[in-house]
Amino acid sequence: MTDIRSILNQQQFSHSDLVRLLYSEGDDQQQLFKFAAEVKKKEVGNKVYFRGLIEYSNICSKDCFYCGVRLSNKNIQRYQLSDAEVLQAAQFAYDQGFASLVIQSGERYDKAFIKQIENLIIEIKKIGNGSLGLTLSCGEQSKETYKRWFNAGAHRYLLRIETSNQEHYKKIHPQNSKHDYVKRIQSLNHLKETGYQVGTGVMIGLPFQSIDDLANDLLFFQKLDIDMAGMGPYIEHKQTPLYQYSNELLSLKNRFLLSLKMVALLRILMKDINIAATTAMQAIDPEGREKAILVGANVIMPNLTPVKYREDYLLYEDKPCIDEEADECKNCLEARIHRTGNAIGHKEWGDSLHFKRKKPSF
Ligand code: SF4
Repeated sequence: MTDIRSILNQQQFSHSDLVRLLYSEGDDQQQLFKFAAEVKKKEVGNKVYFRGLIEYSNICSKDCFYCGVRLSNKNIQRYQLSDAEVLQAAQFAYDQGFASLVIQSGERYDKAFIKQIENLIIEIKKIGNGSLGLTLSCGEQSKETYKRWFNAGAHRYLLRIETSNQEHYKKIHPQNSKHDYVKRIQSLNHLKETGYQVGTGVMIGLPFQSIDDLANDLLFFQKLDIDMAGMGPYIEHKQTPLYQYSNELLSLKNRFLLSLKMVALLRILMKDINIAATTAMQAIDPEGREKAILVGANVIMPNLTPVKYREDYLLYEDKPCIDEEADECKNCLEARIHRTGNAIGHKEWGDSLHFKRKKPSF
């Protein structure tokens, strides 16, 4: 059998290589993590970029079977931040040298929502004379809406596929036109065509998911030629249909470990993309985000949502830091990142090098 180091040194990875690496344990697993850390250092450097996260609204028209803010969950208070609250958070980010923001929201298509996001982008771009980079994560929209938001000043977009297996997708979503796998892929392509840096990702350890699926997810990211990724362990939420399968899941510890391997493998596969150390990693392991940074992640998203709204934006349970004010969250994160031996890219957008290299040079 080929040894792990030889596999890791390959330029191309087959599905079976990835499966073998996802199953790695003990010394092999350590070699995988070490190799991914070397790739990160060489290709994107030991620097972590902050994206201040604003959870704009938990009002959502969709009903994904895994999500705590799904339309059918009547046990949460729905909210939408005021423009003043968003701009205050954006100003805080600017003052703290964060350089970039992420606006995340449940999925809505009504004209008022589209206009409101457009206005907010325009207002945020006025802070510091366009100093703040802006990522959106507001779900599937028409190509026209993507263009409007892009023209207003957003330049990155996160749209997680959650699973690249179409049959699996059907099992974790209702079967109707609002939850259509083909439409989601189309949206990802529209985002690329519009000119965004495009990010996607999957949940790891979902019901009905196999190691084969995860290996295919990695190949899917490569084929789609993504610029950014956000992946994390699936954590079940009691008020969702998938909760009934809780007994069939991997242990939280193993979901976490598998997530670390996915981060490490994606770093090796797509050396110069941006990879987020997601909050879900920390929900399982108190040092989860630091561990993700050590095996390849280079982006972190401190939560700037006003504390009073945070417990209503629980996509999954046991989400960490829901009662920490933004400045406490920032101080805590900075100390955590320094402990990993990484520097913080203060006042730097930290755009995806992969995206920059794809652009024609004039
Ligand atoms: S995952 Fe996103 S689109 Fe699906 S229900 Fe939750 S917030 Fe809405």
